[in-house]
Amino acid sequence: TSPETKRRRVLLKLSGEVFGGGKVGVDPKTVRGIAEQIAQTVGEVEVAIVVGGGNFFRGAELSASGMDRSRADYMGMLGTVMNCLALQDFLEQCGVETRVQSAIAMAQVAENYIPRRAIRHMEKDRVVIFGAGAGLPYFSTDTVAAQRALEVDADEVLMAKSGVDGVYTADPKTDPTATKLDTLTYTEALVKNIRVMDQTAMTMCQDNKLDMLVFGMEGEGNVTRAIRGERIGTTVTA
Ligand code: UDP
Repeated sequence: TSPETKRRRVLLKLSGEVFGGGKVGVDPKTVRGIAEQIAQTVGEVEVAIVVGGGNFFRGAELSASGMDRSRADYMGMLGTVMNCLALQDFLEQCGVETRVQSAIAMAQVAENYIPRRAIRHMEKDRVVIFGAGAGLPYFSTDTVAAQRALEVDADEVLMAKSGVDGVYTADPKTDPTATKLDTLTYTEALVKNIRVMDQTAMTMCQDNKLDMLVFGMEGEGNVTRAIRGERIGTTVTA
């Protein structure tokens, strides 16, 4: 395909918190809503998704209460796969073709992670959902979002946040003078310790000049708008 006909391709990062609606487990109403918004963009934008798992387990938390860190991290990764299956189901109910690719082999529920195959799926209008993180303990799904975006050659990482609609100069919940930023550089975010995603992920985006949009889930149609490339939220650049 020539550069003119190349479609926009995005990597959407959905945290586990989003799936659970703030609770443990999957909130079907929330996931259905997200699926409906993604479905609007099929055929227009190529979409890959990295799903978090914090609504089930976070390795660091389990390890703080006495578990072996690596084993706890594997539990965290397995949790992300349950979110993938939930999202897959609601997307398919909207008529969207999907594939789940897992970094940990589990042939009955997901393909293995094969990047070139993921690209091929997207070219065929399938939404690809990446589960089980990197398959490696001590990593986060934010870092995986950056890595997968780079490997499948996405134009942008879209970080969906709940409870906030972008990056602010200070915490808007505690500081009334906080104002929302339209743009920010990774250097500024790292220096000012602004946690839009974890530092490993930001460094990876910075080093490879990958842009990121931090946006709020809550506004009507925001996921659709972010996928289409509307400048809602805050754009972070290298
Ligand atoms: N995890 C991991 N390696 C990875 C991705 C995730 O070990 O490559 C584990 C880690 O324990 C993490 C958990 O899976 O706490 C859930 O992922 P994460 O906390 O990133 O999910 P989110 O905060 O986005 O819901």
